[in-house]
Amino acid sequence: MSTLLSGIAASNGIAIAKAYRLIEPELKVEKKSIENVAEESARFKAAVDMSKSELQNIREKAAEDLGEDKAAIFDAHLLVISDPELLGPIEDKIKSENINAEFALKETADMFILMFEQMDNEYMRERAADIRDVTKRLLAHLLGVQIPNPSMIAEEVIVISEDLTPSDTAQLNRQFVKGFTTDIGGRTSHSAIMARSMEIPAVVGTKEATKTIQNGDIVIVDGLNGQVHINPTPEVIKQYEKEAQAYEAQKAEWAKLVNEQTISKDGHHVELVANIGTPKDLVGVINNGGEGVGLYRTEFLYMGREQLPTEEEQFEAYKAVLEGLKGKPVVVRTLDIGGDKELPYLNLPKEMNPFLGYRAIRLCLDQQEIFRTQLRALLRASQYGDLKIMFPMIATLGEFRQAKAILEEEKQQLLAKGVTVAEGIEVGIMVEIPSTAVMADTFAKEVDFFSIGTNDLIQYTMAADRMNERVSYLYQPYNPAILRLVKMVIDAAHKEGKWAGMCGEMAGDETAIPVLLGLGLDEFSMSATSILRARSLISKLSKEEMEALAISVLDLETNEDVQAAVEAAVSKA
Ligand code: PEP
Ligand code: MG
Repeated sequence: MSTLLSGIAASNGIAIAKAYRLIEPELKVEKKSIENVAEESARFKAAVDMSKSELQNIREKAAEDLGEDKAAIFDAHLLVISDPELLGPIEDKIKSENINAEFALKETADMFILMFEQMDNEYMRERAADIRDVTKRLLAHLLGVQIPNPSMIAEEVIVISEDLTPSDTAQLNRQFVKGFTTDIGGRTSHSAIMARSMEIPAVVGTKEATKTIQNGDIVIVDGLNGQVHINPTPEVIKQYEKEAQAYEAQKAEWAKLVNEQTISKDGHHVELVANIGTPKDLVGVINNGGEGVGLYRTEFLYMGREQLPTEEEQFEAYKAVLEGLKGKPVVVRTLDIGGDKELPYLNLPKEMNPFLGYRAIRLCLDQQEIFRTQLRALLRASQYGDLKIMFPMIATLGEFRQAKAILEEEKQQLLAKGVTVAEGIEVGIMVEIPSTAVMADTFAKEVDFFSIGTNDLIQYTMAADRMNERVSYLYQPYNPAILRLVKMVIDAAHKEGKWAGMCGEMAGDETAIPVLLGLGLDEFSMSATSILRARSLISKLSKEEMEALAISVLDLETNEDVQAAVEAAVSKA
């Protein structure tokens, strides 16, 4: 039977393929006494052998598709699963206590996990995560349940999951994963942002995708309208195939602007740059005519691995991006971990309100070695292009001054060692906390630029968790409250002769763009896939007319009023 789910359109495009459920199974372990100890031991050994060969396959595949560094995670798992110090006590327990293998495994593994987690040595603490993963795999074999493994997908699929963490998303194979849909999340959750940079159509926040969709169902993800069709009729499939073609034709039309500058109808130039997560995203920036990078989210370099990236690894990544852009500007944001972006190996305590917690610059100013390593890598890479450095989640002037002083210290130390560092690297901040937007006039005297992070600025101004689809109606980019803050930031920058950009999702939003152009935004940073559409739109607008529009909408009452006013003005343009 065909079923329709509605959600939030998170990444443009239409995808039709078979469903692949990426859902962690429940691994329930009960204590049972057993009669035949030899049989139970053999059952455990078989689970170990199967897990081992599975891990070897995954390791090889990961090395081929994702590179040796990602594959190293599985080497660590293979070490654990061959370790007599772990396996011995489990077998002894089965024999001496006459209990089932699942229970013996769980009890023994939990003891080791606790022991490793309490160690002072960071390397040893990371081993706890390996034991946890291996235990999960072994339990799944013993209990006869399957654990999904996205890196092994080898046919075209639509991924169905409750949520996708940014590191899950990073592991999706673009060749086979044609689209995805999740139960939770909003337009600015990081899985949605990643989907856009990977050009994978996605619908998030459907509330019941995992309840409704089974493995093998045929699914249409309509990332343009936020709809998911399950087992659609042949007529619906035909209609969507046509829409997908029309969308491709529209993209071909926009593609003609790839080598053009972004100039309004009355000759005003703005910069359209891209948000990226990894050096691999550069291809998309270049193919979509990006004039640079306005936000490089460096935290993805730290994810999907077992320990912090070294200075050298970071240097290589930053150098690759700077060289790839051949002198075009690249704004690199320092580590913004926390919120929905976790680094399990840092073993940070769980927080009640992670979006309001120990994250981003707060963590970097506290754990300075992490911060300093990144800054050194950036400074060393600076000679390979036009680097600008940006600090995330700045709430006070004190934080900015401290971060800048640490940057300066690292620079002086490198220079003293004879390392080349580019002259005059611009240092700016993200404006994503209301206190900073309100104080923008003061900040503008000290920073070189602002980049407005509306994903967080809207969540903090409206007090609405960006991950929670139940409050997603409060994601209101056109609300005059937001527009007035944006205006304050742009005006403050201009008063001090600085530039103001925006790198939140609002910068690529077709309804927001006319107002932002009118407010005088200098730089618009968005998913690479939105750039050509935005360039086409701006070329049809007059900046002067948009200035009048922007001023008038600031006095309107609601998000909807502004939306209607902009749509009316643009349709006349
Ligand atoms: C933002 O908050 O708008 C932003 C660009 O940063 P992130 O989405 O990575 O939090
Ligand atoms: Mg942010």
